[in-house]
Amino acid sequence: MIELKNVSKWYGQVQVLNNCSTRIEKGEVVVVAGPSGSGKSTLIKTINALEPFQKGEIWVDGVPVHDPKTNLPKLRSRVGMVFQHFELFPHLTVTENLTIAQIKVLGRSKSDALAHGLKYLERVGLLAHKDKFPGQLSGGQQQRVAIARALSMDPIVMLFDEPTSALDPEMVGEVLDVMVGLANEGMTMMVVTHEMGFARKVGSRVIFMDVGGKILEDCSTEEFFGHPDGRQPRTKEFLHKIL
Ligand code: ADP
Ligand code: MG
Repeated sequence: MIELKNVSKWYGQVQVLNNCSTRIEKGEVVVVAGPSGSGKSTLIKTINALEPFQKGEIWVDGVPVHDPKTNLPKLRSRVGMVFQHFELFPHLTVTENLTIAQIKVLGRSKSDALAHGLKYLERVGLLAHKDKFPGQLSGGQQQRVAIARALSMDPIVMLFDEPTSALDPEMVGEVLDVMVGLANEGMTMMVVTHEMGFARKVGSRVIFMDVGGKILEDCSTEEFFGHPDGRQPRTKEFLHKIL
């Protein structure tokens, strides 16, 4: 579904991705972990071409992201993304947030978009809030709307960048529950998170990044958590701090 081949990226002189390669199969849930500044956000943003990269190749469902001829808006419409800070449109209602991209980007009719959006809003348990504005919802509810909005586009893969990091602790669970449900339904997912409980429960693989944008580990969840002795010293140090 996703393939990265020797991807490198620099901001000026500073290298932020260093020869990153990995493959993500359909239905896999890949957790991306690592210290702050190691390039986790940059890595997942290269996949839907929100961040350009100077070297290497990325393929998403057979589409070459690195090819200047690729229709990037079309690619992005097929790759769902959920950020730390929800990024809902504050001046639009929940329903409008759910339908606007379906109408403007996918060209769906208003009623089609509405049916789609409300189906996913129900999925995340928020149908009763459809006419509210984002500011009237809790952080956890806003993030669930953001997930429903991404799902409404019928993405082939979902990318999450620390979706629970900005939430009050009591709201983390409701967002993770939605993500666990998605994973169990077979959605292909790449999730940057420090939630190692989630990683163990539904992750099929863990990618661990180190400062300088290097992929230090890329192994199954069982291998990652079950064989700490086989890990790199930097990984062990990190796991000690967060577990
Ligand atoms: P992480 O998500 O793992 O915390 P990021 O991908 O956000 O890491 O950042 C990786 C590195 O790239 C960091 O050193 C960060 O300072 C740098 N960086 C991120 N965005 C920019 C930018 N727009 N300009 C320059 N440097 C950046
Ligand atoms: Mg980040």
